Amino acid sequence: MTARFHFGTNLKMHTAAPETRAFVTALAAQTVDAGVRRFVIPPYTSLQGLAAIGAPAGIEIGAQNAHFAASGAYTGEISVGMLAALDVDLIMIGHAERRALPTETDDVIARKVAAVLGGTPDLLLCVGERMAERRALEFTDVLRRQLISALGSVRPEQLSRVQVAYEPVWSIGESGVAAEPEDITPAIATIRSVLAELFGKAARAVPLLYGGSVNRDNCADYAVLGGIDGLFVGRAAWSADGFGAVLARGHEAWKLRGGDTVEAGGSDADRAGM
Ligand code: PEP
Repeated sequence: MTARFHFGTNLKMHTAAPETRAFVTALAAQTVDAGVRRFVIPPYTSLQGLAAIGAPAGIEIGAQNAHFAASGAYTGEISVGMLAALDVDLIMIGHAERRALPTETDDVIARKVAAVLGGTPDLLLCVGERMAERRALEFTDVLRRQLISALGSVRPEQLSRVQVAYEPVWSIGESGVAAEPEDITPAIATIRSVLAELFGKAARAVPLLYGGSVNRDNCADYAVLGGIDGLFVGRAAWSADGFGAVLARGHEAWKLRGGDTVEAGGSDADRAGM
């Protein structure tokens, strides 16, 4: 099986249910290659409506967070089982905007990861360092810590349900600065190497996405980087046009690099970003 190009967007707290439905319907009308996997992660309030109409074929739907407990006295929280009952395909854990909350510690994230993988949806784990950590050249340690803490207890048979997004905190959102490809390459190599330490050769098949100020002008520069299997995009993909344009350009660049010709999992050299 050849590798797929993964492409998704996090809608954050931006769309009410009718807008999300219109967005997903517009995406469903776009033509994409069979080798592309698309996903949309809307606010919780959109999930019920999407489940009711059935998400269009070829577009996976994700949730932005989940609680680690199955149920209980956790007002305002939502469990993995509740999300699974709404047919979500994946649950994102550890987004930088959640890690910014004092309660979203590595330990809590690890418990959430265990809850997701104890259920049926797939996991999208976000990791990334802050600007001060990048400046202090601590990003390797930060990424190692985040990955080992979150994925250290993942069992081999669960690994096919795991995907990772590398999102340097300093490049995300309105105040984010687009990273230079050379900033990203060593981080991708670190992530690939920690995954290999944890899971051996099986780790090669874990999709690794890049996110942070990706747009239609810079997406190709990121998609050509070795070790990257796709893009995770915020603002630039919040319109159907933007989503389609960034996807198309990113996918084209990824194919030029040869991303679609490697077996799923790629070669060691590719995975190491060499
Ligand atoms: C994000 O918040 O996950 C993200 C990638 O945002 P943006 O593309 O807008 O920087």
